[in-house]
Amino acid sequence: MRYSRHLLMDDIGEAGQQKLFNARVLIVGLGGLGCPVALYLAAAGIGQLSLCDPDHVELSNLQRQILYKESNCGELKVNCAKRELLALNPHLQISSYAVEASAELLNNNFDIVVDCTDNLAARQLINRHCYNQKKAFVSASALGWEGQLVGFDFGHNPSLCLNCIIDENSPEPSLNCGNSGVVGPVLGAMGSLQATSVIRLLLGFFQQHGEMQRYDGKSGRWLCLQASAKTDCAVCGVIN
Ligand SMILES: [Zn+2]
Repeated sequence: MRYSRHLLMDDIGEAGQQKLFNARVLIVGLGGLGCPVALYLAAAGIGQLSLCDPDHVELSNLQRQILYKESNCGELKVNCAKRELLALNPHLQISSYAVEASAELLNNNFDIVVDCTDNLAARQLINRHCYNQKKAFVSASALGWEGQLVGFDFGHNPSLCLNCIIDENSPEPSLNCGNSGVVGPVLGAMGSLQATSVIRLLLGFFQQHGEMQRYDGKSGRWLCLQASAKTDCAVCGVIN
């Protein structure tokens, strides 16, 4: 009954639902992106979810981080999220890590990593790791009214990675949600698309390796750009 709306679909059905249940997905960052990603993946029946975030819930998070209530302020996000997700779907295995993303954490056995972080260093670490391990990862970010999304399926595509688009030697952007603000549902839109991309990857329908999708919530417009591989990329390039 829980998954009946998936089972009704010819291209998901019982076989697809079983694939979702067998999947191991790591969500790095449980903020404005990680909350909708975690909620949708738990609801969809992704069998093994791992949650990573060192932060505690703060009042300023509640405008967009939809897993948390005012009474959760001061609590570790991973603890609160794990409890809420198990209340939604008690059949899942949920692991929580109250730490920053690290190579040690990424070395655990995951099928897909979802990058919901707010910094370039973590994104580059995830990119490099997933490239080396031939795993998929889905990255998103948002600032102000704008969101962007890109996914990489390294198991099927050996060239083009995040470092081809944003070089790892680039400085951290000076503008961030903490100093410039963000519209909550723009994060919700991007997080929902990340969760959709994860389901698409797990079911074998993913065709958007390195395609950047941008959403401008102020004009309501979308833009799609196909990135191209750099031959001298320090991660995936043939000349390095
Ligand atoms: Zn690259």
